[in-house]
Amino acid sequence: MYYLSVLVGVIRRLCQECGLDAKGSRTDLLLRLSEEMRSREAYDKIFEKIWAASGGWAVIMCPCGIVYSIKCNLRAESPRDFADMLLSWKHLPNVVICDFARGLSTHTSLRQPITFTPFEGRLLEPTTENIAKAKSGKLQVTLPWLTAKKQSPDPDGHPITGSAEHYVLYDRFHEDNTKDPRDSLRKLRLVPQLAGKVNSQAAEQLFSKLKKNNYFMNMALPSTHVFLMRNIIHHYNVRKNEKRLHDIKKEFNTNIHMNDHSQVVLGNVSLTL
Ligand SMILES: [Zn+2]
Repeated sequence: MYYLSVLVGVIRRLCQECGLDAKGSRTDLLLRLSEEMRSREAYDKIFEKIWAASGGWAVIMCPCGIVYSIKCNLRAESPRDFADMLLSWKHLPNVVICDFARGLSTHTSLRQPITFTPFEGRLLEPTTENIAKAKSGKLQVTLPWLTAKKQSPDPDGHPITGSAEHYVLYDRFHEDNTKDPRDSLRKLRLVPQLAGKVNSQAAEQLFSKLKKNNYFMNMALPSTHVFLMRNIIHHYNVRKNEKRLHDIKKEFNTNIHMNDHSQVVLGNVSLTL
């Protein structure tokens, strides 16, 4: 019901902004809008407003800044868009950090029940005792495979970590997005391997960088807009990787190469030591 009501709100606002009568049911509003959209000029105007209202893009990125998935949305983004992207990946990441962690986990388990396990993507079983500990700030949940791959990897484990566990967590800015006490077990800072080490503002930083393209992007046709965005993101990723590789080479001043997983590794350590 929540998304539906949000949607009606968006459509009503759109009617208002287009100077149409904004009263009545969702169907009334949609009929009025579709009538209005018959002229090309009005269509462009409405399209632009929807675009501006939704931001248009949902992204999944590594905290280091590399963008792995983008999805163009005409309606306001929802957990469904992120689930679409994640479920298209060959290997689901072990930890997903998300502003609406609970919503993402709930939505995804309706589509693929075993996606976020254990504990629906919470760090521990949501017992009264665990919740109380998490709230008091005394709880720590270590995920050692984040720093060193599991000695005996789980069946279907992630190729980098060897773990088949999948968590959906809130960063410290969005911990209060949920009212359910069980979700205090979704705090990023409970995990010492992640606490204070993850730049959870990476997405905001990307969007503020992309903002400067808004003018010419919004002048483009929708198909051009999508194509250009795909291109801009690609070059952004390439440049980011090149800069990092350059910095690492300078720092270590030794033989550096990429492994099969595109991770930077020091070449033949035993020889250089
Ligand atoms: Zn990364």
